[in-house]
Amino acid sequence: MKVDPCAVDIAVIGGGAAGLLAAIRAGELGASVVVLEKNRRAGAKILISGGGRCNVTTTREGAALLRSFRAPQDEFLRFAFKALPPARVRTWFEERGVALVEEPGEKVFPQAGRSSVVLDALLRALQGAGADLREQCGLQALELASVEETARSGAGEQHRFVLQTACGVFRARRVILATGGRSWPRAGTTGDGYKVAANLGHSISAQFAALAPLLVDDRDLRALSGLSVEDAAVSVQNADGNWQRFVAPLLFTHEGLSGPGPMDVSGEIEAQLAAQGAAQHGVTIEIDFVAAIPEATLDQQLAAAARATDRSVEALLPAGLPQRLRAVLLERSGLDPAMRSSTLRREQRAALLRTLKHCAVVVRRSRGFDHAEVTRGGVALAEIDPRSMESRLMPGLHLCGEVLDIDGPIGGFNFQAAFSTGWVAGESAARGIMRSDRAAGDSGPS
Ligand SMILES: Cc1cc2nc3c(=O)[nH]c(=O)nc-3n(C[C@H](O)[C@H](O)[C@H](O)COP(=O)(O)OP(=O)(O)OC[C@H]3O[C@@H](n4cnc5c(N)ncnc54)[C@H](O)[C@@H]3O)c2cc1C
Repeated sequence: MKVDPCAVDIAVIGGGAAGLLAAIRAGELGASVVVLEKNRRAGAKILISGGGRCNVTTTREGAALLRSFRAPQDEFLRFAFKALPPARVRTWFEERGVALVEEPGEKVFPQAGRSSVVLDALLRALQGAGADLREQCGLQALELASVEETARSGAGEQHRFVLQTACGVFRARRVILATGGRSWPRAGTTGDGYKVAANLGHSISAQFAALAPLLVDDRDLRALSGLSVEDAAVSVQNADGNWQRFVAPLLFTHEGLSGPGPMDVSGEIEAQLAAQGAAQHGVTIEIDFVAAIPEATLDQQLAAAARATDRSVEALLPAGLPQRLRAVLLERSGLDPAMRSSTLRREQRAALLRTLKHCAVVVRRSRGFDHAEVTRGGVALAEIDPRSMESRLMPGLHLCGEVLDIDGPIGGFNFQAAFSTGWVAGESAARGIMRSDRAAGDSGPS
């Protein structure tokens, strides 16, 4: 029988973190693999990530790692994180010559300070695994041919998936969909995978920009543009009434707030704004400007400092807070900066404490998908087997990475989720090929 040159065991759609690792794993296990990437170069997001330095993973492991993701993502990721935990991602890169360093916030970066070393290691491993990378080869349509049509085409009878791409037609026995989400669309991620998955019967949950800077109308806060607070925490109340708190630095900008803390709450804000509809006026978040000191301790410290010496009330504020922010915090507490600490009454101290630990800020919205690092929402997890990343609706189709309804906080969690789910998808797709070859009496993947 004539062998179609574009017929492979596994076609991986998307050459990002998830797709590359899936292809590497499947290739290592002996499957013939093609990676179809629509950009001129694979790995665009790896290169721009972490400010060009790539926060490749986290030091967080086990239950703490799972708790970093919202339900039901935490349960869904349990198997994938066990199969390829952060420690193994680190070893994987280190064994391939990428020295890594830990940084504050449980973050892991390449020691070289350049994300290109991460991408280079992945591309070398891809080549070593024998996978074929086709760039400028975006998927246009994915169809399922009947066994008879497939046999007539000259491809092997199991090559049921037909992929129309910008560089021709491919046929594959299994497909791994790793097209990412729709955040930062100039990197090639324009939500293509959602349409592909929906056409094959999948449910796609609404998508929201996540890990994006926040827009705030409050002029006093916007006037603080350029200032940052390291020891901050940002909290937002979920739809179910529980508060989600992210302890991470924040940055004031001329449009509102940025930095890890504010960006971590942006997905929840966008989801709530959508739920509120046209009547919405924004979502209120709370900022804790002294996250490391518990409220009761800070209250005692303020009281003791006020008693100790008579000085300006401003001098009572914790040392790390920038000068211009101090003035705004006092004003928000209804206190005159010239006031003497000895005259501070209990209720005034309580007002100051409230502003320091629970400063309410109304967020109009986030800066949206153009500035979002990830997409909240995507292909419904209930329709994917977490042990194989295979669709429960379409056998032979695996999905991994951000195209799934998975989004983690800032700190290397999103690459970790992409790597782990990619690894599982690649491994189970290759093993699926081996199983069917064994069943057909062949010696291994063709
Ligand atoms: C500015 C920025 C900084 C970030 N920094 C970090 C960080 O430091 N640490 C971290 O953990 N996360 C970070 N992220 C998030 C992280 O980049 C993503 O979560 C991760 O890249 C998701 O991996 P993925 O493989 O699922 O998708 P992507 O990396 O988005 O890859 C998807 C690939 O599919 C391709 N594609 C799309 N449609 C098609 C099609 N039709 N045909 C063929 N190919 C297609 C795209 O071109 C792309 O190459 C950052 C994101 C951004 C935008």
